[in-house]
Amino acid sequence: VNQFKGMKVLVLGLAKSGYAAAHLLRSLGAVVTVNDAKPEEGNAEAASLKEEGIRVICGGHPEGILDEGYKLIVKNPGIPYSNPVVVDAVQKGISVWTEIELTYRISEAPIIGITGSNGKTTTTTLLYHMLNIAKKQPLIAGNIGTVSCTVGEKAKNDNIIVLEASSFQLMGIDSFRPRIAIWTNLYDSHLDYHGSSEGYAEAKAGITKNQTVDDYFIYNFDQPELRAYAERSAAIKIPFSLFGRTEKGISADDEQIYWDGVPYVSRSIIKLPGQHNLENILAATAAAILCGCDKSSIENVLISFTGVRHRMQFVKELKGRKFYNDSKATNTLATKSALAAFSMPTVLLAGGLDRGHSFEELRPHMGNVKAVIALGETAERFSEFVKSCGITEVFCATDMRDAVRESYSHTEPGDIILLSPSCASWDQYTNFEARGDAFIDSVMSL
Ligand code: ADP
Repeated sequence: VNQFKGMKVLVLGLAKSGYAAAHLLRSLGAVVTVNDAKPEEGNAEAASLKEEGIRVICGGHPEGILDEGYKLIVKNPGIPYSNPVVVDAVQKGISVWTEIELTYRISEAPIIGITGSNGKTTTTTLLYHMLNIAKKQPLIAGNIGTVSCTVGEKAKNDNIIVLEASSFQLMGIDSFRPRIAIWTNLYDSHLDYHGSSEGYAEAKAGITKNQTVDDYFIYNFDQPELRAYAERSAAIKIPFSLFGRTEKGISADDEQIYWDGVPYVSRSIIKLPGQHNLENILAATAAAILCGCDKSSIENVLISFTGVRHRMQFVKELKGRKFYNDSKATNTLATKSALAAFSMPTVLLAGGLDRGHSFEELRPHMGNVKAVIALGETAERFSEFVKSCGITEVFCATDMRDAVRESYSHTEPGDIILLSPSCASWDQYTNFEARGDAFIDSVMSL
């Protein structure tokens, strides 16, 4: 039975995911209202939904909107729980979902859900390629691909949905139950949204909370917090570990990857650089094996996959200097792993939106950094930190072009120039892609 038929639903927040959710709910027979705080002018999505006959209210949240009898709110993951309408809805006991819950409810296909502080997109992409080569008809959903509920709508039962789920999205689940859940790692980030480290971890733990004994939970065994969460999971546990062969799950030493303690594939075939990417590879490989992928499909991907755009992406070599775009590194952990991937002298371009987070975690990894170009809102604060690490060549840049030009002047052949900001991009750019593109443009025009 269609649980949405005739149901009054409020979709909060337009953008891509709100648009898709409203569209879908209406096609399922729900009575949909869409509300967005931003004005309607120039909002193509609002206009298009109106044309379909959906009620759209833009430019604020009308007083008393929740007295209209909504049974469900589908909220854009970017809208915080402190939003007055959301607060009010929670108080009134109205269900508040994000669209991944919707995806789960309507999809005929099983879902593989991937979360973690870092590595989600890389793991999702790796797994998608493995399943694809093995002809398992995967559909990719979430950050990189199409909005998940649109994917859920078109998925058939012989598809597999590979879904990247952020903590924001996992906050809004109810019965969402991936058949395979992957939790890559857990580090402090997005504290401004979740309020506390625990809230953030609990949100991520949603990836496994509805799993049952028939499901699989692939998790980072090297992190004690994740081991603790695994103990609470009802699913079959598949630990992954980088620190040598383990009897159960997937693991790696310097030479091999092991599946349940048996050598599975040699590490020498892997293209993707960096120890952190090995985590992503182990997690994706484990999921692929569980889905019945043959070994040659998995090997095929390990041999050919060199990374996702804006994630340690090699941009160009100019007179012996190599430029890397790691714009996606929006926290210190990501920058830490980027720095650890190089042994050459490095000029680091970093900084961006100021969330008040500490850079201290980078200190042990600044050994190869010869100069720093500080960007954005955190420029001053980051400069102070870098100087306290004993680095004297520190400059604040006004824009990316300036930053890239300055960075080049501090290098000699053999050096690395790395954009790995440790901060979100929203102080100066619409997203990390735009920041990475600005970097690439500036490098290309040097
Ligand atoms: P996400 O989708 O979780 O943000 P990505 O795969 O897009 O993760 O990678 C984001 C950044 O984090 C990359 O720039 C990379 O340097 C770093 N990174 C990727 N995987 C890991 C990992 N397993 N552990 C630590 N850092 C990682």
